[in-house]
Amino acid sequence: MATLFTKIINREIPAKIIYENPKVLAFEDIHPQAPHHYLIVPKIEIATINDLTPENAGYVAEMYLAAKEIAKMKGVDERGYRVVMNCNAEAGQTVFHIHLHFLAGRELHWPPG
Ligand code: AMP
Repeated sequence: MATLFTKIINREIPAKIIYENPKVLAFEDIHPQAPHHYLIVPKIEIATINDLTPENAGYVAEMYLAAKEIAKMKGVDERGYRVVMNCNAEAGQTVFHIHLHFLAGRELHWPPG
C-alpha cells in the first residue's frame, strides 16, 4: 500500500507543495513547529534510515541539495535552518517514508526535546 507521502507525491492527497524536482518533493508540514517547517521526501519509498542501501542512498544527497535550495528560496540560508530525520518509535517517526524536516524562522534550541 502506498505511503501517505507517496499519495502526496501522486497528488492523491493535497499538500502545499513548495519545491519539486525529478527525485524529491517538498511541502509544508501540516503541524508546523517553526515559521518554516517543510518535509522533503524522496520520490521512492524508503521506510526508515535503516532501509538505506548503497543503491538508494543517492536520494539522501538529493534531499540535502533540495534543503539547500529551499533555504535560499525562503531567504533563511544565511540566518540558519535545521534539517532532521527521525528513525523509528523512540525518535518520534510516525510516517514510514523517510523525510527530512526542514525547520527555520525561529531560534532552534539544542539539545532538541
Ligand atoms: P515524523 O514524526 O518524523 O514521521 O514526521 C511526520 C510529519 O508528517 C509530522 O511532522 C506531521 O505533522 C506531518 N504530516 C502528517 N500528515 C501530513 C500531511 N497530510 N501533510 C503534511 N504533513 C503531514
